[in-house]
This record gives sequence, C-alpha cells and structure tokens, in this order.
Amino acid sequence: MKEWKKNIRMVEPYVAGEQPQFEHMIKLNTNENPFPPSPLVTEALKNMNTEKLRLYPDTTSDILVSALAEYYNVKKNQIFVGVGSDDVLAMAFLTFFHSDKPVLFADITYSFYDVWANLYRIPYKTVAVGEDFKLHKEGYYEENGGIVIANPNAPTSLCVGRDFIEDILIHNKDSVVIVDEAYIDFGAETALPLIEKYDNLLVVQTFSKSRSLAGMRIGYAMGNEELIEALMNVKNAYNSYTMSTAAILLGAAAVKDVAYFKNNIKRIMDTREYVRAELEQMGFKVLDSKTNFLFIHHEKIKAKELFEALRGENIFVRYFNKPVIDDYLRVTIGTKEQMQVFLGFLTAYFQNPFVAKKG
Ligand code: PMP
Repeated sequence: MKEWKKNIRMVEPYVAGEQPQFEHMIKLNTNENPFPPSPLVTEALKNMNTEKLRLYPDTTSDILVSALAEYYNVKKNQIFVGVGSDDVLAMAFLTFFHSDKPVLFADITYSFYDVWANLYRIPYKTVAVGEDFKLHKEGYYEENGGIVIANPNAPTSLCVGRDFIEDILIHNKDSVVIVDEAYIDFGAETALPLIEKYDNLLVVQTFSKSRSLAGMRIGYAMGNEELIEALMNVKNAYNSYTMSTAAILLGAAAVKDVAYFKNNIKRIMDTREYVRAELEQMGFKVLDSKTNFLFIHHEKIKAKELFEALRGENIFVRYFNKPVIDDYLRVTIGTKEQMQVFLGFLTAYFQNPFVAKKG
C-alpha cells in the first residue's frame, strides 16, 4: 500500500435518502414538507440585494438569531445556528463529547449519530429500545461522556414527554445532554423550558421540516450561554462563515410568519391522522407518530417488496436495510392529494393476486 494511503481518514459515511430528480413523482422518503416556504420567504428572496453577496456573511448571523430569540423568548447568546441541524449536531458532537467515557444513544435512532462518533473518534454505546421501540430512561443512568436523544425519535416517530428528558438530566448532571428535536413541531413537547434549569442541556431544531426550508440548510441549537459560546468557538476554529447571507435572511423571514407555520403544521398533522386510519384499515401496524412521517409494518407484505413496487410507480418512501427495522417503511406525510395516490396504489396492490405474500 502506498504510504499516503495509510494516512487517509477512513470513514463509514452516512447514507442520506435518495434525491430522485423526476418531474413527476411523489416524494415521501426524506421527511420534507410538501408545502412551499412562507410567502415572506419568497418576498425576502425577491428583495434580496445581490450586491451584498460580494461580502462575506455576518459570522454572528444576527438577523436570524434575533428572529429566533424573539420567537422562542430566549437570549441571543442562548442560540447557535448552523447549516441544517446535521451541521449543528456534528459541531455539538465535536464540542461536547470529548471524554474517554462512552456517549449514549438509542440503538434505533437517527443513523448519523454513530457516523459522527466514528468520524471524531468518540467512544459510544447504544442503549437498546424496548420491543415496542420505546426508549427506556434507565438505560441512560450509567456513567457516560454525553447523551443524545432524538425526540421524537427517527425513524420510529415515537416521542417522550418533557418529564422523561428531565429525568435523564437529573441523572446526568456531569454530561451534556443533546435533545435532537428535528420533528418537535408536529405535536410533541419540547424540552426548551428546561434550558433555564439545566445548564448541560442543548436543544437542537431545524428549518428543514416544519418550516419547509430543507434546501436552504438551516438548523439551530438552544442552551445555556456557556454551551453556546463553546459551540461558537469550535465553529470559528473550523469555518467562520457557515451561514450564507441568503440563509440568514430567508430563515429570519420564515420565523416571522407564525400563522403560515401553524397552519401548515396543522394540515400535515390532520393528513397524518387520515393516512393512519386508512393504513390501519388495510391491516398495517402504524406506530404512534408526533412527526411528519409514519413508521409502518404489514404482517402479510414484505416492506422491501412494497418499497420496490412503490418505487416502480415513482412513489418514493424510505426503506432501511437494517436489523430489526428491515420490515418497516417510513412514509413522509405529503399533501392530502399525494397521500391519496399513495393509498390508492396500496389498495390496488393488495387486490393484485400476483403480489407475493408472506407466510
Ligand atoms: N435529526 C433527525 C432526527 C433527522 O431525521 C434529520 C433529518 N435527516 C436531521 C436531524 C437533520 O436535518 P437537517 O440537517 O436537514 O436539519
């Protein structure tokens, strides 16, 4: 082997959901919002002074941070923004998980956590979820170098209450606890009020789901001033200009349109419950969801076969070829019309005598 090859940092990358580029498709595979961003975002984009792009962006992202501080009623120095919550989480792993003790996260959760841990050489240990995929708080009582909880969890869609997070904080005064709330706006309870009481809590959220801005890449963390300062220092030791001028302006515009945000969330949650009922009628097991997706399983049809059949019709859902969850599908909630096409396909599929059935 050539000498230089021995110095390559070999990593196992995260595999993102596919981003097919067909004009006509129903894309229910990466939990995007089916509705466009707020009209205020479109307006801000139209009014953007492109002359400004000549300059480097504001390293403090002040316009965006101020809008978030006002919306969440926290101080500006309690907020950190990044290029999607993936960037914020990656930065948080690098900043807060610097111990020889293992970081703890669930064995079934967002599959980027172990990728970052491996990338940064952070020791970690997974905590088994129950047979029903529920998180068990006792699993997080042992000595550790940090904790990450996705709430609601992905891809299971299940959530825990604020009391669950508080219990973990009470048992873990010596490590930073990160709560990844990417899907929090779809009906779950945020841990945000706890940041005033626990200086080791970091709450991470995103503009990619509830604010329809996955393509703009904006995420944020909220926590005690010292945590935020540490994050800022690591970011500034890595790349000062993470947030583009456009992301700062458009993100701030999105936060200001509260009515549009609430209405979209309601539409998605209503569609979710409609789809749940229809799927249950067809014999699917549908996990309780406080997210913009459903995690589903059918006794009679293999998830992989259904995934491929849907794909053949340009209906994209997410299949995970992994132990325990390889007979489940994760289906993003699209518009009601999109979901009706999806359900219509399933109805026809179940009626087709040539469909390979299990058992
Ligand atoms: N956390 C969880 C649990 C997610 O499912 C996702 C979306 N893939 C993210 C974080 C990252 O989202 P983004 O980088 O778009 O904010």
